[in-house]
Amino acid sequence: MANVTTKLKQFTVPDPLGRESDPWVDFREIEIVELEWTFTYRHSLGKYSKFFIELENRRFFATRCPVCSKAWAPPRPVCPNHLSITEWVELSGRGQVKSFSILHHKPASAPFIQPPYVLAYVKLDGADTLFAHILQCSPASVRIDMPVKVVFNDGPVAHPIHLMAFAPVEEG
Ligand SMILES: [Zn+2]
Repeated sequence: MANVTTKLKQFTVPDPLGRESDPWVDFREIEIVELEWTFTYRHSLGKYSKFFIELENRRFFATRCPVCSKAWAPPRPVCPNHLSITEWVELSGRGQVKSFSILHHKPASAPFIQPPYVLAYVKLDGADTLFAHILQCSPASVRIDMPVKVVFNDGPVAHPIHLMAFAPVEEG
């Protein structure tokens, strides 16, 4: 729903061509407002549904290609290399940070997160791809090859991907 929350400015612009008879004279009054636009919609998780259903069960799944054995995390219903239908495979949820960014804006889908926060690309044990998601640690402490694990929460969440996050594995 869109709401007019603040009128920022109202003014009249002159004809940029300076014509004596301005054909747009009735359309020169301009109002500028600030709008907030939020909406709710229905979205099918489709062939990815099992991944999110299992997050509710605190289990983490990838998919594996029966031809090349490559394990995709995030899951893909079809191996892009072989166009073969993949199979679900459960992973331990442990892995290592292979890249990361420190973000300074509040994510729209997760307003509970206070910036700055860490977006990590994690190579999960048993997976052949990187999984990008929020890493719950201080930006100062993140490093490449840092051991991390999937942690779960019970929600409610704005998007089911936030049923999980990454967190550091305590070392020692
Ligand atoms: Zn394959």
